Amino acid sequence: MPTDQPAGSVGPAGTFPGFSGPHAPQDADLYKCVHCGFCLQACPTYLETGLESESPRGRIALMKAVNEGRLEMSLPVVGHWDMCLQCRACELACPSGVEYGKLMEATRSQVQQHTKRSLTERVARTVGYKTLLPSPAGLRMAGTFLKIYKKSGMRVIARGSGLLKLMPGDAELADEYLPELSKKFFTAKGQVYPAKGVRKAKVAMLAGCVMAITHAETLEATVRVLTRNGIEVHVTGGQGCCGALNTHSGESDSAIKMAKKNIDSFLSISPDAIVSASAGCGAAMKDYEELLHSETDYIEKAKRVTELTRDVHEILVEYEFEAPTASLDVTVTYQDPCHLLNVQRITEQPRAILNSIPGLKLVDLGEPAVCCGSAGTYSLTQREMSAQLGTRKARNVVATGADIVATGNPGCAMQLDFALTQIAKEDAADRTIKVRYVVDLLDEAYSLE
Ligand code: SF4
Ligand code: SF4
Repeated sequence: MPTDQPAGSVGPAGTFPGFSGPHAPQDADLYKCVHCGFCLQACPTYLETGLESESPRGRIALMKAVNEGRLEMSLPVVGHWDMCLQCRACELACPSGVEYGKLMEATRSQVQQHTKRSLTERVARTVGYKTLLPSPAGLRMAGTFLKIYKKSGMRVIARGSGLLKLMPGDAELADEYLPELSKKFFTAKGQVYPAKGVRKAKVAMLAGCVMAITHAETLEATVRVLTRNGIEVHVTGGQGCCGALNTHSGESDSAIKMAKKNIDSFLSISPDAIVSASAGCGAAMKDYEELLHSETDYIEKAKRVTELTRDVHEILVEYEFEAPTASLDVTVTYQDPCHLLNVQRITEQPRAILNSIPGLKLVDLGEPAVCCGSAGTYSLTQREMSAQLGTRKARNVVATGADIVATGNPGCAMQLDFALTQIAKEDAADRTIKVRYVVDLLDEAYSLE
């Protein structure tokens, strides 16, 4: 049964201050939940723990209790909200139309405003959300440092000397999870890539933050498949991170600043569409209208960006991409990123692209709607649950017998890569399955013609 009175500091209504100030969850959203529980079996953290407090219904009950002043917004309460992946599988399962993502983003913004996190966490958040993410140049510098750290022997020394253990926060964990970095980073500096043949459309493309340093090759492949299909691509200057990680972590003010920068950059070329090769970023940009709803000078422009934004698979299908003629003789399974499946509701287009490649055999993945556990910074902040879900997804991938798991989101690609390596180690087996993006496979097939 749902509980509105979870363990913690509980008092009669009005005892505690409740939600207040900017970006508070709205009653109309909060009280839509009728506690039916249809969402429980869709929720990855409930599936893993079986706990009501780690379910959508339990988390909403906590929000209501805090909102009504019956429960203190204490760290244990916040911990249940922090455990949420914001995968939004619960939204798809909810017959009452509860907009859970919106509720959780507003709740996290309240947590930021009304609770005090540890010093380490505050420093990490300031560096990550307010310094690095808003600065593409800063991220590229950090990426260059990480490359040197990995290749120069510094990493071996840091690990062997125990230095990582002495560092604040989870430095050891962050080190273990360091992703592969692209040889050459992708930089937005106003490049224009003309369409091949007749120009069907002119689009602005998001370079993004993490993807530009971890999967720059995929962004280049994205440009090639778009131009090959008659779409002129502008990687407009002045753009930066979409702000998704900030929004999901309750850092609304910095997310709004980042969104405004992108809006100005993209709309400067009056595009027919704005394209994202990353599911999470596309979902965030489609939500700019909501994020900037109280910014009177930007609301109309934000609305325009929301209307124009397309996921790369979506636009390829919309403009009737050409099926390749060369074959790729591989077996592929497709992993639905939550921000495509649950948020943008895009499922058919990536599969249509894969199915268009001659020779490619597409096989179904078990539990397609269960999040892989990546969820932005979740893999660092909630390592245990993230690893559990990563293993669950990787085991499902292995069970398909595929050579390749294809995806459409950088976080998922890194998580799959990490989890597939981990389970190969556990099984003392060679890892054979590769992680690719759908557009990489299309690009490869085109390149063989
Ligand atoms: S399915 Fe919707 S209405 Fe039912 S408990 Fe879950 S969030 Fe609430
Ligand atoms: S967003 Fe995902 S993890 Fe969070 S409550 Fe909903 S289903 Fe569970």
